[in-house]
Amino acid sequence: MKNLVWLIGLMLLGWSSCTKKDNAVIVPVNDQEKSDLIFLREEEKLAHDVYIYAFRKYNNSTFSNIANSEQSHTNSVLNLLTQRNISDPTADLKEGEFLNQDLQSIYNSLVATVDSSENHALIVGATIEDLDINDIHHFYSHTTNNEILLVYDKLTCGFRNHMRSFFKQLNTLGINYQPQFISVSEFNAIVNSQNEQCGLMTGK
Ligand code: MN
Ligand code: MN
Repeated sequence: MKNLVWLIGLMLLGWSSCTKKDNAVIVPVNDQEKSDLIFLREEEKLAHDVYIYAFRKYNNSTFSNIANSEQSHTNSVLNLLTQRNISDPTADLKEGEFLNQDLQSIYNSLVATVDSSENHALIVGATIEDLDINDIHHFYSHTTNNEILLVYDKLTCGFRNHMRSFFKQLNTLGINYQPQFISVSEFNAIVNSQNEQCGLMTGK
């Protein structure tokens, strides 16, 4: 009888630790993954803040639609940070403010270009997506963590759709955007293919 109680106890212990494991395994991140996620949290905020700025200025709904999608991207990255007790670099920042000073100067120069004209603002849009796609190629090569890769996939799907939207509008205006960061062949493959479904949270 004593043995049976002990056995049941052991079984329960095994069962409960299994359940716990299945429900919430948070794979810790290494320093490189951590710095990539912190950068990405701010880089997606940058896209959001530039598009909101452009929308206010030109009232073109492409900017507000894509800004919504950027908000959900930056939130997905925040979830990964929060789950790992990494503090949010944007916690005390207002719109247009960045902790990373490289991103701050990119933001400042992009909004100055947005100010020039609506056409310039659309070129800025294509430029941001071009840069984002190029940056995430590097981040992919730094991780094998499935939760992170899943978020990278959702973001990349969004980058491609956003690039297609800006390219289409520029094309209609007779402006031919040339990729500045990704290769011409990657760029052509994106703009010559259909919009994609990017998952429930990040759509668009
Ligand atoms: Mn994005
Ligand atoms: Mn985007």
